[in-house]
Amino acid sequence: MSDSNKFKLAGVMGMPIYQSRSPILHNYWLTKYGIKGAYGHFPVELKNLEAAVRGLSALGLAGCNITLPHKVHAMKMMDHIDPLAKRMGAINCIVVQEDGALHGFNNDGYGYIQCVKDAKPNWRADEGPIVVLGAGGAARAIVLSLVDEGAKEIRLINRTTSKAQELTVGVESVVKVFDWSERNEAMRGVSMLINTTNQGMYGQPALDVSLDALPLTALVSDAIYIPLETPLLETARLRGNPTVNGLGMLLNQARPAFKAWFGVLPEITDDLRKAVLATF
Ligand code: NAP
Repeated sequence: MSDSNKFKLAGVMGMPIYQSRSPILHNYWLTKYGIKGAYGHFPVELKNLEAAVRGLSALGLAGCNITLPHKVHAMKMMDHIDPLAKRMGAINCIVVQEDGALHGFNNDGYGYIQCVKDAKPNWRADEGPIVVLGAGGAARAIVLSLVDEGAKEIRLINRTTSKAQELTVGVESVVKVFDWSERNEAMRGVSMLINTTNQGMYGQPALDVSLDALPLTALVSDAIYIPLETPLLETARLRGNPTVNGLGMLLNQARPAFKAWFGVLPEITDDLRKAVLATF
């Protein structure tokens, strides 16, 4: 079969997985660009991860996204890891090469930075100190991307301080760790507050913070996109801070992945946003 006739398959692998909106966007783009293919949910337990990942090339899939809880474990199964993903210590995207080799990438940081720039085109990472709450996978991608964008001071604050300390390796001159008990006071004088914890996500309690010390000019951003407006973003909006939710991060990280699998760099349009928002 010639390449133009090939039906290309991709998906998102994780557990739980059916809450993921990635199939909505990729299938929207496949239809929009007239590409023969499909993108699905792959529910995979950790014990089956290796077999599932190795099966990508055996089945001739274009690749897949990797999400919780497999972003770190899946790295071990790659034949090549992109240098940025290596620095982040996690992958969120696998691209199967012509020869069946598995290449791992991490587009989360790219997606996050683009999402902030879409929301605030004149945004700069070096406008002032930035508070980042959380030190999990999302924080790792976001913090390194902020450093690469030129951030001068990042105050990294996590419930488990040791995990925040681990994340500073190689970026110690920019990233300073504060204790969780200092999170409210650390917001004084910052240009940006970013939540990368899971607190405020659907099914989780609201993030336990006070915004009293946060300047009203500070941009408040949440990596979470379910719900679109977390309690943190609602509080920030009501007191007058500009806000940006996590949907743009999801949409933007998907663009380079779609290009790698299906050959077209897709556009984020109002119609696409509407299609995704219709599922909330
Ligand atoms: P993760 O690796 O599991 O990290 C979870 C983080 O939440 C850790 O820093 C953890 O702190 C913190 N946390 C958990 N319970 C807490 C509590 N009770 N109080 C304070 N902190 C608490 O998860 P992740 O991959 O980084 O994802 C984090 C969030 O980002 C999720 O809501 C996810 O949906 C979102 N996300 C969004 C996108 C997007 O495209 N928009 C992409 C990736 C992730 P400890 O270290 O102390 O446990």
